[in-house]
Amino acid sequence: LGETIGENLERTVARFGDREALVDVPTGRRWTYERLNADVDALARALLARGVAKGDRVGIWAPNRAEWVIVQYATAKIGAILVNVNPAYRTHELRYVTEQSGMRLLISAQEHKGSDYRTMVGEIGFADVIFLDDPTWDTLTGRQADDAALRARMAELAFDDPINIQYTSGTTGFPKGATLSHHNILNNGYFVGELIHYTEQDRVCLPVPFYHCFGMVMGNLSATSHGSCIVIPSPGFDPEATLSAVQQERCTSLYGVPTMFIAELAQAAKFDLSSLRTGIMAGSPCPVEVMKRVVGEMNMREVAICYGMTETSPVSTMTRSDDDLARRTETVGRVMPHVEVKIVDPETRLTVPRGEPGELCTRGYSVMLGYWNEPAKTAEAIDAARWMSTGDLATMDDAGYVNVVGRIKDMIIRGGENVYPREIEEFLYGHPDIADVQVIGVPDEKFGEEVMAWIVMRPDTEPLTAERVKDYCAGRLAHFKIPRYVHVTDAFPLTVTGKIRKVEMRERSVGLLGLQAAAQ
Ligand code: ATP
Ligand code: MG
Repeated sequence: LGETIGENLERTVARFGDREALVDVPTGRRWTYERLNADVDALARALLARGVAKGDRVGIWAPNRAEWVIVQYATAKIGAILVNVNPAYRTHELRYVTEQSGMRLLISAQEHKGSDYRTMVGEIGFADVIFLDDPTWDTLTGRQADDAALRARMAELAFDDPINIQYTSGTTGFPKGATLSHHNILNNGYFVGELIHYTEQDRVCLPVPFYHCFGMVMGNLSATSHGSCIVIPSPGFDPEATLSAVQQERCTSLYGVPTMFIAELAQAAKFDLSSLRTGIMAGSPCPVEVMKRVVGEMNMREVAICYGMTETSPVSTMTRSDDDLARRTETVGRVMPHVEVKIVDPETRLTVPRGEPGELCTRGYSVMLGYWNEPAKTAEAIDAARWMSTGDLATMDDAGYVNVVGRIKDMIIRGGENVYPREIEEFLYGHPDIADVQVIGVPDEKFGEEVMAWIVMRPDTEPLTAERVKDYCAGRLAHFKIPRYVHVTDAFPLTVTGKIRKVEMRERSVGLLGLQAAAQ
């Protein structure tokens, strides 16, 4: 699509103007495409009147709600760069992203989940802020440039202009600001929608956060580029509110990370989910068992798995509804249209033989423009031929199906043997007393690294000892993969996006085991 996000929205309005575009379930508000576009234009003209220039960074700090979507399209129409601020951030991270992005204006909620955004914005001393549900928002939309000014601005924009800074989840370190163009995210959203067969009949339930590409691109942009309707079930994730929104709004599609679907499966029988057809599970490894239950118990017969990262707009590979069930549940599918994927040896950078694990690299329209104001990190991630190194280990079979083995940084090298935590985790999931498990490497004098399992027990079971885990694995796992240490815990350390922080688990394990950190 050689057009901007604003032009694409207007094309949908021309085709499906009177169809429903957006439903904000908690407040009962509804928009047709005509009305959504009118509200987007009103905000775009207000931002112009406030002097927001092309390329200015405008932040949005709010949980999911209709205004998030309106701000997303209004900033795109005037060529401002939207900076997505994670609702779970606190002053430290808020200060970092406002300064790092050179933010000019922040559009903020007043509070979320009991935390007071107003006070935090005050604490960091950020001056130019507009609060939703507040007179500052009303005065903003009260003062508007005329339509001719908006049309003139839209005419200045190019499809490869930067339009969005999204900070990565910070699973492996401090978040990095991936800078994305109209071209990057509009195409990715469009192709996700194509592969999931969206039409103006589809209604897409989005409990995934809008500040993340999962909500904003795979959700909002894929829906609006096909005339489908966005349904917002609740500001933050709530399994009952989500399923109730699916039932009430007759949603055909539902998105989530694996843990969201696990929470929904426990409630699914109470709701009428017969309208569901499809959806997306993504963001972290999707357990095969959970995928199968989502297909069977939630009626999501065409559900897809996507693999990707913020830096690649985000989706690089995806399962298709006509793939056989084994491939749709056990792999992350095949490469997206107009994108390339290769698997290389992390040392030599040469393509490995099919089936062998290596680092997944990707190239195509979807690769970000770069990390905002971080040229050195950009050069490390994207080579001269525009291949993006993902830091993920994967295999690809002869038919092109990709399996994500884990992150390179999480791979354990024990006595020269490569040990993939994911394989041991999937094996230990089979133990009847284990509710959840994560495997990491800890420093070891003799072998370089040793295998350690952190285990969450099922209710009313006896905590497993290392001895009992060893007995369970004996004869079924190669000796070097069997966890030497076991730590029974209630929960794993998480990032604000709900991903498991293995970096922190490793640090804490060193303390737990009284080990010396290996020299880096
Ligand atoms: P940071 O880059 O700051 O450490 P992050 O990589 O977790 O954080 P995101 O861009 O949100 O930030 O996540 C992308 C990563 O999530 C991928 O590199 C991959 O490791 C993982 N991932 C995404 N989808 C899948 C999937 N379907 N299966 C397995 N892993 C996935
Ligand atoms: Mg990453």
